[in-house]
Amino acid sequence: MFLNGCCRFLAICALIFPRTWCFLPNKQRVLLVSFDGFRWDYIYKFPTPSFHDVIKNGIHVEQITNVFITKTYPNHYTMVTGLYAENHGIVANEMYDPVLNETFSMNRMTIYNSEFWEDAYPIWITNQMQGHRSGAAMWPGTDVKIHGIFPTRYMPYNESVSFQERVAKLIEWFTSEEPINLGLLYWEEPDEMGHRLGPDNPLMKPVITEIDDLLNYLVLELKKAKLWDTTNVIITSDHGMAQSSTDRIIQLDQYVDRDLYRMIDHSPDVAILPKEGKLDDVYNALVQAHPNMTVYKKEAIPSRLHYSHSSRIQPILLVADEGWEILQNKSDPFELGNHGYDNALPDMHPIFLAHGPAFRKNISKKAMNSTDLYPLLCHLLGVDPLPSNGSLDNVKDLLASEVPKEPQDRSQQESFAYFIGVFLGSILVFVFLLVFIKHLTRSQVSAVRLQHTEIAQPLLQD
Ligand SMILES: [Zn+2]
Repeated sequence: MFLNGCCRFLAICALIFPRTWCFLPNKQRVLLVSFDGFRWDYIYKFPTPSFHDVIKNGIHVEQITNVFITKTYPNHYTMVTGLYAENHGIVANEMYDPVLNETFSMNRMTIYNSEFWEDAYPIWITNQMQGHRSGAAMWPGTDVKIHGIFPTRYMPYNESVSFQERVAKLIEWFTSEEPINLGLLYWEEPDEMGHRLGPDNPLMKPVITEIDDLLNYLVLELKKAKLWDTTNVIITSDHGMAQSSTDRIIQLDQYVDRDLYRMIDHSPDVAILPKEGKLDDVYNALVQAHPNMTVYKKEAIPSRLHYSHSSRIQPILLVADEGWEILQNKSDPFELGNHGYDNALPDMHPIFLAHGPAFRKNISKKAMNSTDLYPLLCHLLGVDPLPSNGSLDNVKDLLASEVPKEPQDRSQQESFAYFIGVFLGSILVFVFLLVFIKHLTRSQVSAVRLQHTEIAQPLLQD
Protein backbone atom coordinates (compact mmCIF):
# COMPACT_ATOMS: atom_id res chain seq x y z
CA MET A 1 0.00 0.00 0.00
CA PHE A 2 2.73 2.43 1.05
CA LEU A 3 4.88 1.38 -1.91
CA ASN A 4 2.03 1.84 -4.39
CA GLY A 5 1.30 5.34 -3.06
CA CYS A 6 4.94 6.35 -3.40
CA CYS A 7 5.18 5.05 -6.96
CA ARG A 8 2.08 6.98 -7.99
CA PHE A 9 3.42 10.17 -6.37
CA LEU A 10 6.78 9.84 -8.14
CA ALA A 11 5.12 9.22 -11.51
CA ILE A 12 2.99 12.36 -11.15
CA CYS A 13 6.04 14.40 -10.14
CA ALA A 14 7.98 13.20 -13.18
CA LEU A 15 5.18 14.35 -15.44
CA ILE A 16 4.45 17.66 -13.76
CA PHE A 17 7.83 19.08 -12.85
CA PRO A 18 9.52 19.52 -16.24
CA ARG A 19 6.31 21.08 -17.61
CA THR A 20 5.87 23.36 -14.65
CA TRP A 21 9.38 24.62 -15.09
CA CYS A 22 8.79 25.29 -18.77
CA PHE A 23 6.46 28.13 -17.78
CA LEU A 24 9.40 30.50 -17.60
CA PRO A 25 8.88 34.08 -18.74
CA ASN A 26 8.36 34.28 -22.50
CA LYS A 27 11.20 35.74 -24.45
CA GLN A 28 10.57 39.23 -25.78
CA ARG A 29 9.00 39.24 -29.21
CA VAL A 30 9.49 42.16 -31.56
CA LEU A 31 7.52 43.16 -34.64
CA LEU A 32 9.00 46.03 -36.64
CA VAL A 33 6.58 47.59 -39.12
CA SER A 34 7.45 50.10 -41.84
CA PHE A 35 4.82 52.03 -43.74
CA ASP A 36 7.01 53.44 -46.51
CA GLY A 37 7.02 57.23 -46.73
CA PHE A 38 4.77 57.87 -43.70
CA ARG A 39 5.74 61.40 -42.72
CA TRP A 40 5.85 62.19 -38.99
CA ASP A 41 3.01 64.74 -39.13
CA TYR A 42 0.45 62.78 -41.19
CA ILE A 43 -1.16 61.77 -37.90
CA TYR A 44 -1.83 65.45 -37.14
CA LYS A 45 -2.94 66.37 -40.66
CA PHE A 46 -5.41 63.52 -41.19
CA PRO A 47 -7.82 61.56 -38.97
CA THR A 48 -5.84 58.56 -37.71
CA PRO A 49 -7.66 57.06 -34.69
CA SER A 50 -5.75 53.76 -34.80
CA PHE A 51 -2.37 55.50 -34.65
CA HIS A 52 -3.59 57.64 -31.74
CA ASP A 53 -4.92 54.57 -29.90
CA VAL A 54 -1.50 52.94 -30.08
CA ILE A 55 0.15 56.15 -28.89
CA LYS A 56 -2.24 56.40 -25.91
CA ASN A 57 -1.16 52.96 -24.74
CA GLY A 58 2.44 53.12 -25.79
CA ILE A 59 5.19 55.53 -26.75
CA HIS A 60 5.50 58.14 -29.45
CA VAL A 61 8.61 59.88 -30.76
CA GLU A 62 7.57 63.00 -32.64
CA GLN A 63 10.52 63.32 -34.98
CA ILE A 64 13.00 60.75 -36.11
CA THR A 65 16.19 62.01 -37.63
CA ASN A 66 16.76 59.45 -40.34
CA VAL A 67 19.94 59.16 -42.38
CA PHE A 68 21.09 61.00 -45.47
CA ILE A 69 20.16 60.38 -48.20
CA THR A 70 16.53 60.18 -47.10
CA LYS A 71 15.62 57.41 -49.54
CA THR A 72 14.10 53.98 -49.11
CA TYR A 73 16.95 51.46 -49.31
CA PRO A 74 19.52 53.42 -47.28
CA ASN A 75 17.05 54.08 -44.48
CA HIS A 76 15.56 50.61 -44.30
CA TYR A 77 19.07 49.21 -43.99
CA THR A 78 19.94 51.77 -41.31
CA MET A 79 16.94 50.70 -39.24
CA VAL A 80 18.21 47.11 -39.14
CA THR A 81 21.95 47.84 -38.78
CA GLY A 82 22.15 51.10 -36.79
CA LEU A 83 24.70 52.38 -39.31
CA TYR A 84 24.90 55.47 -41.48
CA ALA A 85 24.60 54.80 -45.20
CA GLU A 86 28.34 55.33 -45.73
CA ASN A 87 28.98 52.54 -43.22
CA HIS A 88 26.38 49.95 -44.24
CA GLY A 89 27.08 50.46 -47.94
CA ILE A 90 23.51 50.88 -49.25
CA VAL A 91 24.15 54.53 -50.05
CA ALA A 92 21.27 55.04 -52.51
CA ASN A 93 18.41 53.35 -54.33
CA GLU A 94 20.55 53.42 -57.47
CA MET A 95 24.28 52.79 -57.05
CA TYR A 96 27.41 52.02 -58.95
CA ASP A 97 30.30 50.25 -57.26
CA PRO A 98 33.56 50.95 -59.09
CA VAL A 99 35.37 48.16 -57.23
CA LEU A 100 32.81 45.52 -58.16
CA ASN A 101 32.10 47.31 -61.45
CA GLU A 102 28.41 46.58 -60.76
CA THR A 103 25.26 48.66 -60.56
CA PHE A 104 22.54 48.33 -57.94
CA SER A 105 19.08 49.10 -59.22
CA MET A 106 15.59 47.93 -58.35
CA ASN A 107 14.59 48.35 -61.98
CA ARG A 108 17.30 45.98 -63.13
CA MET A 109 16.80 43.51 -60.26
CA THR A 110 20.48 43.87 -59.42
CA ILE A 111 19.61 44.51 -55.79
CA TYR A 112 19.93 40.72 -55.40
CA ASN A 113 23.70 40.97 -55.77
CA SER A 114 24.53 40.16 -52.16
CA GLU A 115 27.92 41.90 -52.26
CA PHE A 116 26.17 45.27 -52.05
CA TRP A 117 24.67 44.31 -48.69
CA GLU A 118 27.67 42.73 -47.04
CA ASP A 119 29.36 45.78 -45.52
CA ALA A 120 26.99 45.15 -42.59
CA TYR A 121 25.17 42.40 -40.73
CA PRO A 122 21.45 43.19 -40.47
CA ILE A 123 19.61 42.34 -37.28
CA TRP A 124 17.97 39.19 -38.59
CA ILE A 125 21.43 37.64 -39.06
CA THR A 126 22.60 38.75 -35.60
CA ASN A 127 19.37 37.39 -34.12
CA GLN A 128 19.76 34.04 -35.84
CA MET A 129 23.46 33.71 -35.06
CA GLN A 130 22.55 34.09 -31.39
CA GLY A 131 20.11 31.20 -31.50
CA HIS A 132 16.80 32.85 -32.45
CA ARG A 133 14.55 32.87 -35.50
CA SER A 134 13.55 35.81 -37.67
CA GLY A 135 10.69 36.27 -40.11
CA ALA A 136 10.35 38.94 -42.78
CA ALA A 137 7.40 40.00 -44.90
CA MET A 138 8.86 42.00 -47.80
CA TRP A 139 11.25 44.14 -45.74
CA PRO A 140 13.86 45.51 -48.18
CA GLY A 141 16.86 43.22 -48.32
CA THR A 142 15.30 40.28 -46.52
CA ASP A 143 15.05 38.18 -49.67
CA VAL A 144 18.73 38.69 -50.43
CA LYS A 145 21.20 36.06 -49.23
CA ILE A 146 23.48 38.26 -47.12
CA HIS A 147 26.69 36.65 -45.83
CA GLY A 148 25.17 33.37 -47.02
CA ILE A 149 22.12 33.72 -44.75
CA PHE A 150 18.42 34.36 -45.39
CA PRO A 151 15.96 35.17 -42.59
CA THR A 152 14.66 31.94 -41.02
CA ARG A 153 11.30 32.70 -42.69
CA TYR A 154 10.77 35.24 -45.44
CA MET A 155 8.61 36.13 -48.41
CA PRO A 156 10.28 36.85 -51.74
CA TYR A 157 9.46 40.42 -52.67
CA ASN A 158 6.18 40.74 -54.52
CA GLU A 159 4.34 44.04 -54.44
CA SER A 160 1.01 42.38 -55.26
CA VAL A 161 0.93 40.37 -52.00
CA SER A 162 -1.70 42.06 -49.82
CA PHE A 163 -1.08 43.57 -46.40
CA GLN A 164 -3.46 40.98 -44.94
CA GLU A 165 -1.44 38.10 -46.40
CA ARG A 166 1.78 39.57 -45.01
CA VAL A 167 0.24 39.92 -41.54
CA ALA A 168 -1.15 36.37 -41.69
CA LYS A 169 2.29 34.99 -42.53
CA LEU A 170 3.95 36.82 -39.66
CA ILE A 171 1.33 35.64 -37.18
CA GLU A 172 1.75 32.08 -38.43
CA TRP A 173 5.51 32.35 -37.86
CA PHE A 174 5.13 33.93 -34.41
CA THR A 175 2.77 31.18 -33.27
CA SER A 176 4.34 28.13 -34.95
CA GLU A 177 6.00 25.21 -33.17
CA GLU A 178 9.35 26.87 -33.82
CA PRO A 179 8.36 30.51 -33.36
CA ILE A 180 10.23 33.54 -34.57
CA ASN A 181 11.06 36.23 -32.01
CA LEU A 182 11.67 38.95 -34.61
CA GLY A 183 9.21 39.90 -37.32
CA LEU A 184 9.73 42.55 -40.02
CA LEU A 185 6.76 43.89 -41.96
CA TYR A 186 6.97 46.25 -44.90
CA TRP A 187 4.15 48.04 -46.75
CA GLU A 188 4.67 50.21 -49.85
CA GLU A 189 2.18 52.95 -48.93
CA PRO A 190 1.75 55.85 -48.39
CA ASP A 191 5.00 56.35 -50.34
CA GLU A 192 3.63 55.53 -53.78
CA MET A 193 0.59 57.78 -53.47
CA GLY A 194 2.69 60.45 -51.77
CA HIS A 195 4.92 60.58 -54.86
CA ARG A 196 1.98 60.63 -57.21
CA LEU A 197 -0.24 63.16 -55.42
CA GLY A 198 2.20 65.18 -53.35
CA PRO A 199 1.85 65.33 -49.56
CA ASP A 200 -0.06 68.62 -49.59
CA ASN A 201 -2.79 67.21 -51.81
CA PRO A 202 -6.17 66.83 -49.99
CA LEU A 203 -6.49 63.47 -51.77
CA MET A 204 -3.85 62.16 -49.35
CA LYS A 205 -6.61 61.97 -46.73
CA PRO A 206 -8.15 58.69 -48.02
CA VAL A 207 -4.63 57.31 -48.53
CA ILE A 208 -3.73 57.92 -44.86
CA THR A 209 -7.18 56.72 -43.72
CA GLU A 210 -6.45 53.44 -45.50
CA ILE A 211 -3.11 53.10 -43.69
CA ASP A 212 -4.93 53.78 -40.43
CA ASP A 213 -7.35 50.96 -41.28
CA LEU A 214 -4.42 48.65 -42.02
CA LEU A 215 -2.89 49.46 -38.64
CA ASN A 216 -6.24 48.72 -37.01
CA TYR A 217 -6.35 45.41 -38.88
CA LEU A 218 -2.85 44.52 -37.70
CA VAL A 219 -3.71 45.30 -34.05
CA LEU A 220 -6.94 43.25 -34.22
CA GLU A 221 -5.19 40.27 -35.79
CA LEU A 222 -2.42 40.41 -33.17
CA LYS A 223 -5.07 40.56 -30.45
CA LYS A 224 -6.90 37.56 -31.94
CA ALA A 225 -3.63 35.62 -31.90
CA LYS A 226 -2.99 36.77 -28.29
CA LEU A 227 0.20 38.47 -29.43
CA TRP A 228 -0.70 42.13 -28.99
CA ASP A 229 0.03 42.41 -25.27
CA THR A 230 3.09 40.19 -25.35
CA THR A 231 4.83 41.57 -28.42
CA ASN A 232 6.81 44.77 -28.72
CA VAL A 233 5.38 46.32 -31.87
CA ILE A 234 7.24 49.26 -33.40
CA ILE A 235 5.54 51.24 -36.16
CA THR A 236 7.79 53.48 -38.16
CA SER A 237 8.88 54.47 -41.63
CA ASP A 238 11.95 55.24 -43.70
CA HIS A 239 11.37 58.90 -44.60
CA GLY A 240 8.79 61.61 -45.07
CA MET A 241 7.74 63.39 -48.25
CA ALA A 242 8.01 66.92 -49.65
CA GLN A 243 5.75 68.70 -52.13
CA SER A 244 7.25 69.20 -55.58
CA SER A 245 6.09 71.55 -58.31
CA THR A 246 6.68 71.94 -62.03
CA ASP A 247 7.75 75.49 -61.13
CA ARG A 248 10.72 74.16 -59.18
CA ILE A 249 12.72 72.12 -61.67
CA ILE A 250 16.46 72.50 -62.24
CA GLN A 251 17.46 71.28 -65.70
CA LEU A 252 21.06 70.09 -65.87
CA ASP A 253 21.15 70.18 -69.66
CA GLN A 254 21.07 73.97 -69.41
CA TYR A 255 24.43 73.95 -67.62
CA VAL A 256 26.50 70.91 -68.59
CA ASP A 257 26.89 68.59 -71.56
CA ARG A 258 25.36 65.24 -70.61
CA ASP A 259 28.12 63.43 -72.53
CA LEU A 260 30.59 64.51 -69.84
CA TYR A 261 29.04 62.43 -67.06
CA ARG A 262 26.91 59.48 -66.10
CA MET A 263 23.92 60.07 -63.81
CA ILE A 264 23.90 57.26 -61.27
CA ASP A 265 21.22 58.26 -58.73
CA HIS A 266 18.34 60.62 -59.29
CA SER A 267 16.60 63.68 -57.92
CA PRO A 268 16.67 65.20 -55.42
CA ASP A 269 20.18 63.78 -54.77
CA VAL A 270 21.89 63.34 -58.08
CA ALA A 271 24.99 61.17 -58.00
CA ILE A 272 27.30 62.16 -60.83
CA LEU A 273 30.13 60.03 -62.20
CA PRO A 274 32.12 62.30 -64.55
CA LYS A 275 33.76 60.72 -67.57
CA GLU A 276 37.50 60.17 -67.18
CA GLY A 277 39.36 63.47 -66.76
CA LYS A 278 36.14 65.51 -66.72
CA LEU A 279 35.56 65.89 -62.98
CA ASP A 280 36.60 69.54 -62.78
CA ASP A 281 34.78 70.46 -65.99
CA VAL A 282 31.52 69.04 -64.68
CA TYR A 283 32.00 70.47 -61.20
CA ASN A 284 32.85 73.96 -62.45
CA ALA A 285 29.88 73.95 -64.81
CA LEU A 286 27.45 73.09 -62.02
CA VAL A 287 28.82 74.61 -58.82
CA GLN A 288 27.21 78.02 -59.33
CA ALA A 289 24.52 76.87 -61.74
CA HIS A 290 21.38 77.26 -59.62
CA PRO A 291 20.68 78.88 -56.22
CA ASN A 292 18.51 75.93 -55.13
CA MET A 293 21.07 73.25 -55.94
CA THR A 294 24.11 72.52 -53.75
CA VAL A 295 27.03 70.90 -55.55
CA TYR A 296 29.57 68.90 -53.56
CA LYS A 297 32.76 67.18 -54.50
CA LYS A 298 32.63 63.93 -52.55
CA GLU A 299 35.39 64.95 -50.13
CA ALA A 300 33.60 68.22 -49.32
CA ILE A 301 30.26 66.69 -48.30
CA PRO A 302 29.63 68.01 -44.75
CA SER A 303 30.59 65.52 -42.07
CA ARG A 304 27.20 65.93 -40.35
CA LEU A 305 25.65 64.08 -43.31
CA HIS A 306 27.92 61.04 -42.76
CA TYR A 307 28.01 60.56 -46.48
CA SER A 308 31.45 60.32 -48.00
CA HIS A 309 33.29 57.20 -46.82
CA SER A 310 32.14 54.72 -49.42
CA SER A 311 33.38 53.88 -52.90
CA ARG A 312 29.72 53.83 -53.97
CA ILE A 313 29.36 57.56 -53.27
CA GLN A 314 30.20 59.21 -56.59
CA PRO A 315 32.76 62.02 -57.10
CA ILE A 316 30.05 64.71 -57.40
CA LEU A 317 26.79 64.97 -55.49
CA LEU A 318 24.01 67.44 -56.33
CA VAL A 319 21.43 68.10 -53.63
CA ALA A 320 18.26 70.08 -54.30
CA ASP A 321 16.62 72.36 -51.74
CA GLU A 322 13.37 71.05 -50.34
CA GLY A 323 10.60 70.99 -52.95
CA TRP A 324 13.02 71.36 -55.88
CA GLU A 325 13.83 68.69 -58.46
CA ILE A 326 17.01 68.16 -60.46
CA LEU A 327 16.34 66.64 -63.89
CA GLN A 328 18.39 66.58 -67.06
CA ASN A 329 15.47 68.26 -68.77
CA LYS A 330 11.72 68.62 -68.38
CA SER A 331 10.99 65.47 -70.40
CA ASP A 332 12.38 63.29 -67.55
CA PRO A 333 9.85 61.60 -65.25
CA PHE A 334 8.49 63.98 -62.65
CA GLU A 335 6.27 63.40 -59.63
CA LEU A 336 4.46 65.76 -57.26
CA GLY A 337 6.04 64.36 -54.12
CA ASN A 338 9.63 63.39 -53.41
CA HIS A 339 12.12 62.60 -50.66
CA GLY A 340 15.86 62.20 -50.41
CA TYR A 341 16.55 65.77 -49.23
CA ASP A 342 18.72 66.80 -46.28
CA ASN A 343 17.86 64.67 -43.25
CA ALA A 344 17.76 67.79 -41.05
CA LEU A 345 14.51 68.85 -42.76
CA PRO A 346 11.41 67.97 -40.70
CA ASP A 347 9.44 66.99 -43.84
CA MET A 348 11.94 64.17 -44.37
CA HIS A 349 11.28 62.68 -40.95
CA PRO A 350 9.22 59.54 -40.48
CA ILE A 351 6.75 58.46 -37.83
CA PHE A 352 7.68 56.39 -34.77
CA LEU A 353 5.42 54.75 -32.22
CA ALA A 354 5.61 51.56 -30.21
CA HIS A 355 3.52 49.39 -27.94
CA GLY A 356 4.35 46.34 -25.87
CA PRO A 357 5.50 44.95 -22.54
CA ALA A 358 8.92 46.60 -22.79
CA PHE A 359 7.59 50.09 -23.45
CA ARG A 360 6.20 52.75 -21.17
CA LYS A 361 2.62 53.88 -21.66
CA ASN A 362 1.38 57.21 -22.98
CA ILE A 363 4.86 58.68 -23.23
CA SER A 364 5.93 61.17 -25.83
CA LYS A 365 9.51 62.05 -26.73
CA LYS A 366 10.58 64.91 -28.98
CA ALA A 367 13.26 63.30 -31.12
CA MET A 368 15.57 60.34 -31.69
CA ASN A 369 17.95 59.11 -34.37
CA SER A 370 16.98 56.22 -36.58
CA THR A 371 20.42 54.74 -35.86
CA ASP A 372 19.25 54.22 -32.25
CA LEU A 373 16.60 51.76 -33.36
CA TYR A 374 19.07 48.91 -33.93
CA PRO A 375 20.52 48.90 -30.38
CA LEU A 376 16.94 49.19 -29.08
CA LEU A 377 15.85 46.16 -31.13
CA CYS A 378 18.86 44.14 -29.91
CA HIS A 379 18.02 45.05 -26.33
CA LEU A 380 14.40 43.97 -26.75
CA LEU A 381 15.44 40.69 -28.37
CA GLY A 382 18.14 40.04 -25.78
CA VAL A 383 20.89 39.74 -28.38
CA ASP A 384 24.33 41.36 -28.29
CA PRO A 385 24.45 44.21 -30.80
CA LEU A 386 27.28 44.67 -33.25
CA PRO A 387 29.00 48.07 -33.20
CA SER A 388 26.72 50.75 -34.65
CA ASN A 389 26.28 54.51 -34.97
CA GLY A 390 23.37 54.42 -32.52
CA SER A 391 23.11 54.16 -28.76
CA LEU A 392 20.64 52.47 -26.46
CA ASP A 393 21.23 55.24 -23.90
CA ASN A 394 19.46 57.69 -26.23
CA VAL A 395 16.21 55.70 -26.10
CA LYS A 396 16.30 54.08 -22.65
CA ASP A 397 13.69 56.57 -21.46
CA LEU A 398 11.13 54.83 -23.69
CA LEU A 399 11.46 51.58 -21.79
CA ALA A 400 9.40 50.44 -18.85
CA SER A 401 11.78 50.05 -15.93
CA GLU A 402 10.87 46.51 -14.90
CA VAL A 403 11.20 45.02 -18.38
CA PRO A 404 12.62 43.70 -20.54
CA LYS A 405 14.32 40.98 -18.56
CA GLU A 406 17.14 39.18 -20.24
CA PRO A 407 15.24 36.69 -22.32
CA GLN A 408 16.36 33.12 -22.52
CA ASP A 409 16.36 31.13 -25.65
CA ARG A 410 13.73 28.41 -25.77
CA SER A 411 16.37 25.69 -25.94
CA GLN A 412 18.10 27.25 -22.92
CA GLN A 413 14.77 27.45 -21.13
CA GLU A 414 14.05 23.84 -21.95
CA SER A 415 17.44 22.60 -20.83
CA PHE A 416 17.09 24.63 -17.63
CA ALA A 417 13.64 23.13 -17.06
CA TYR A 418 15.03 19.68 -17.78
CA PHE A 419 17.86 20.22 -15.30
CA ILE A 420 15.44 21.40 -12.60
CA GLY A 421 13.13 18.47 -13.33
CA VAL A 422 15.95 15.95 -13.08
CA PHE A 423 17.31 17.62 -9.92
CA LEU A 424 13.94 17.61 -8.13
CA GLY A 425 13.21 14.10 -9.39
CA SER A 426 16.51 12.85 -7.95
CA ILE A 427 15.72 14.44 -4.57
CA LEU A 428 12.31 12.82 -4.56
CA VAL A 429 13.76 9.42 -5.45
CA PHE A 430 16.35 9.83 -2.70
CA VAL A 431 13.71 10.83 -0.12
CA PHE A 432 11.51 7.98 -1.27
CA LEU A 433 14.36 5.46 -0.90
CA LEU A 434 15.20 6.86 2.52
CA VAL A 435 11.59 6.56 3.69
CA PHE A 436 11.24 3.15 2.07
CA ILE A 437 14.41 1.79 3.68
CA LYS A 438 13.40 3.25 7.05
CA HIS A 439 9.97 1.71 6.67
CA LEU A 440 11.48 -1.65 5.67
CA THR A 441 13.96 -1.58 8.57
CA ARG A 442 11.18 -0.78 11.06
CA SER A 443 9.01 -3.61 9.71
CA GLN A 444 11.92 -6.04 10.00
CA VAL A 445 12.79 -4.90 13.52
CA SER A 446 9.14 -5.27 14.59
CA ALA A 447 9.01 -8.72 13.00
CA VAL A 448 12.18 -9.80 14.83
CA ARG A 449 10.83 -8.34 18.05
CA LEU A 450 7.55 -10.21 17.51
CA GLN A 451 9.49 -13.41 16.78
CA HIS A 452 11.52 -12.94 19.94
CA THR A 453 8.36 -12.37 21.90
CA GLU A 454 6.79 -15.52 20.43
CA ILE A 455 9.89 -17.57 21.28
CA ALA A 456 10.08 -16.07 24.71
CA GLN A 457 6.47 -16.44 25.59
CA PRO A 458 6.36 -20.26 26.02
CA LEU A 459 9.43 -20.01 28.18
CA LEU A 460 7.67 -17.41 30.25
CA GLN A 461 4.63 -19.61 30.44
CA ASP A 462 6.76 -22.28 31.76
ZN1 LIG B 1 10.62 54.83 -49.01
